[in-house]
Amino acid sequence: MTSRPYVIDQMISAKSIAARIEALAREIEAEFSDTDKLVVVGLLRGSFIFIADLVRELDLPVEVDFLEASSYGNSMTSSREVRILKDLRGEIGGRDVLVVEDIIDTGHTMKRVVAFLSAREPGRLRTICLLDKPARREVDYTADWTGFEIPDRFVVGYGIDYAQRNRNLPFIGSVRFTGEADDTGQP
Ligand code: 5GP
Ligand code: MG
Ligand code: MG
Repeated sequence: MTSRPYVIDQMISAKSIAARIEALAREIEAEFSDTDKLVVVGLLRGSFIFIADLVRELDLPVEVDFLEASSYGNSMTSSREVRILKDLRGEIGGRDVLVVEDIIDTGHTMKRVVAFLSAREPGRLRTICLLDKPARREVDYTADWTGFEIPDRFVVGYGIDYAQRNRNLPFIGSVRFTGEADDTGQP
């Protein structure tokens, strides 16, 4: 694999993310005010920071579970065949479920995940994504709640990686290449 030098331009600050999550949490609380216990399902790995911040804002009884679907691997191009790599630990039949995703891009991942979970006949099944790139959609899918609509840029930070790096940045930034590829094999 080749690598290219790049810099990260901040796109959404940590403060803006926190403010948006607060507002979204109020809407989610209103939707699920009558629920016994909401099952909040994070899609690994990109949503791990988003789900952590979101559940701490939710004044609702919640259970947290995780699902992993196949994604980009180390490349920047999407795969249209989505596989479930890790299933939930808990049961969701008859329960209210909120699926938490980092980014909706082509829409294939969310469409597949929603079909997979719907087959278990949950109660209400709702979805939230932090980022949405509507310009890249290949299949029709819109989350019930969206943090920010963004242009067609490759982003990192706040849980989201480029070749497994940059997940620990507290903000969302876009990757900008500054030079030619080399052959070090290191991203
Ligand atoms: P979709 O199936 O909607 O095309 O892809 C969704 C998944 O692709 C996201 O959950 C995320 O893992 C990955 N993805 C989409 N856009 C980006 C991006 O800009 N940066 C990174 N790191 N991953 C992305
Ligand atoms: Mg993802
Ligand atoms: Mg990834």
